[in-house]
Order: sequence, then structure tokens, then C-alpha cells
Amino acid sequence: MIYKMKKESATHCLECGTVTYGRNDQKFCSAKCKNKWWNRRTNARTGYQLKVLNMLDRNYRILTRLLSIGVLSVRSEDLQLLGFRPDVMTGHRRMMKREWNECFDIGYLQMPSRISNLHYLEAGDAAVKDEERFASEPASEDL
Ligand SMILES: [Zn+2]
Repeated sequence: MIYKMKKESATHCLECGTVTYGRNDQKFCSAKCKNKWWNRRTNARTGYQLKVLNMLDRNYRILTRLLSIGVLSVRSEDLQLLGFRPDVMTGHRRMMKREWNECFDIGYLQMPSRISNLHYLEAGDAAVKDEERFASEPASEDL
């Protein structure tokens, strides 16, 4: 019986680019490079998440402040001057041809030039959402 040695080919370390020899699927020249690569990747993801969470936090603080002074309708340009990001939200529903957005427990009607009907969501709103979600999922009897 003749055994052939599997030819090992050279690859490049994903972190430093050094030519590595070994298994064909080897991606890094060392544990140090592997750790560096994974840490950078994790930090980039965390950075993005932090950026989104900061935008949500700013939106929430603006909406909370408006509600606290009894403002229920605001022009979009005034909101943007305050730093509000209309494209960042935690929930969205389309009902009766209207766009309803949510920022945590605050809901509002999004229109092209303003938001209105600013209000705190009640527990029932979340239940309606759950009903909608379950209605779109196949019932267990269908499986
Ligand atoms: Zn390396």
C-alpha cells in the first residue's frame, strides 16, 4: 500500500499577511495573530452596536422631553435640529396606510413632514404586536 503525503500549500495569515505553511485551512500564523484578528472584529461590531444604541438613546430622550412638556406633534425639520434620527427606531407598523414607529415604549405616527400622535405605548400595544407575530407564524397543528 502506498501512502501519499498530502501536499501542504502556503497560505497567508489573515492578520499580518505572513506566508504560513501547514493545514490548507490554516488562517493565521500564530495564536497572537488569531487573537488580534478576532478582537478587532468583535470591537468593530460592538462599536456599531454602540453607535445605534446611542442614536436610539438620543431619540428616546428627545421624545421623552417632548411628552413631558405636552408636545404631541413636531415638524421633522425641528426634530432633526434637536438631533433626532427618523430612520432609527425599535419598532415599525403599517396600519390603515399609516406608518407607526416606536422608540422603546413611545409610539408615534411618522409622516413625511412631521411626527404626530406621540404617546407612551400601553401594555396592550405589545400584546397586539405579539398577536400579529403569531398570526404570521404557522400554527403548531400545521407542522
Ligand atoms: Zn500573522
